[in-house]
Amino acid sequence: MTATAGQEGMSPEEFREYGHRLIDWAADYLSDPRRFPVLPDVAPGDVRTALPTHAPAEPEPMDDILRDFERIIFPGLTLWNHPRFLAYFSITGSAPGILGELIAATLNVNAMLWATSPAATELEEVATGWLRDAIGLPGTFEGVINDTASSSTLYALAAAREYAHDLRIREEGLAGRSDVPRLRIYCSEEAHSSVDKAALTLGLGRAGIRHIAADDRFRMDVSALDAAIRQDLADGVRPIAVVGTVGTTSTTSVDPIAEIADICEEHDIWLHVDAAYAGPVAMLDEKRWILDGCDRAHSLVTNPHKWLFTPADCSVLYTRLPEILKQAFSLVPEYLTTTTEARNLMDYGNALGRRFRAIKLWFVLRRFGLEGIRRALREHIRIAERVEEWIRAEPDFEVLAPREFSVVAFRYRPAGLDEESVDRLNATLLRRINEDRTFYLSHTRLKGKYAIRIAIGNLMTREDDLAELWSGLKTRARSLGLGDLE
Ligand SMILES: *Cc1c(COP(=O)(O)O)cnc(C)c1O
Repeated sequence: MTATAGQEGMSPEEFREYGHRLIDWAADYLSDPRRFPVLPDVAPGDVRTALPTHAPAEPEPMDDILRDFERIIFPGLTLWNHPRFLAYFSITGSAPGILGELIAATLNVNAMLWATSPAATELEEVATGWLRDAIGLPGTFEGVINDTASSSTLYALAAAREYAHDLRIREEGLAGRSDVPRLRIYCSEEAHSSVDKAALTLGLGRAGIRHIAADDRFRMDVSALDAAIRQDLADGVRPIAVVGTVGTTSTTSVDPIAEIADICEEHDIWLHVDAAYAGPVAMLDEKRWILDGCDRAHSLVTNPHKWLFTPADCSVLYTRLPEILKQAFSLVPEYLTTTTEARNLMDYGNALGRRFRAIKLWFVLRRFGLEGIRRALREHIRIAERVEEWIRAEPDFEVLAPREFSVVAFRYRPAGLDEESVDRLNATLLRRINEDRTFYLSHTRLKGKYAIRIAIGNLMTREDDLAELWSGLKTRARSLGLGDLE
């Protein structure tokens, strides 16, 4: 086929042909990703040097482009949508969500204003409303979809800063003012780094954040929070927000949100809840308690792209004070003014352009149904329980944190080694497992101890995968000698 690309980049016939081919490729991939190693075998620079230094001057045939994708790009990828990806948080780009992305890219609509794509705006309201009801948040919470939880938390904390309206930060800013005290945000030492990044971005600095100690179950110590706020108030510091986490990144621990809400209400401080990973699991009756007290939060973020089978990116920010969020961000230049009385989603964050993310979430919610989602979440938790049992059954292994959901944190601890050697042994063990490229695990540090994490969240992961991992991991660990320490 000649490489003539018309103005449209591809003729309709060619699009149909390659579109079908790529759907076949995607269906083949999804039918059994275990054929491919989850981790690539590449060194830094390998992929870059295999590619031309300059873009082609003339159109290239799709066959050549796809061949290079299969030959150079695919083997250099870490396969996140893979049943043996158990690092960080394991996620799923499910088939209904993938098809939703196809529509979003095909129509390329922009839901910045209601008028620039009415159905995209309203579907976002409907889909985030369905999810809100399913996880048991009150109907007073309004949702808006962002790219990531990092953006959602940044926007929530910008709203918190706006909530302290007497400071007039929207109008006057923060720099060069002697009439603004130091502002403070509080979160636990187990909170996600996106909270710290938001403090940096908002001009509060590292000194603008206090990390509150976590208890032995890795939950925020509420009496320490209370003491920190009282101390700050006595010192003339202005508390503006507390971030509670439901499902922390290292151990998935759940902060006592209701008790934190008591403190926030006493001092009229914005409460933001980070439920990026665990939010969807509140759909299960037996886990509904995790959002206890969240009806009193001012905002909450949860990521359908994490544990709700929606391809990245899709993060939902809920708030029951949308007018404050809007006050923090709304700025309408002449060319964006409209006469329609409707909600314009560009007003609720930094981005003007907003891709059509609601369609994939809506596809997922409809195609799985809430019961289908519940069955899948329960299965992940069940597999994680099995893994925890296997670990607890071995005297030379140790579970390092209570398992709340589908993440297990543990370490290998043979008798007679000091703490530092145990840390180094586990770092070696993790590196050796990942070097096989059959499974991908990651690590964290818990109360100073190096911990290996197994995170379950991909729909294709089966108990068999974990049984194979566990048997290999035990053998590996026990064959390590002190000479292997790094
Ligand atoms: C993953 C995670 C985040 C960050 O999510 P992004 O969407 O990648 O920004 C924030 N908080 C928690 C608790 C998380 O687990």
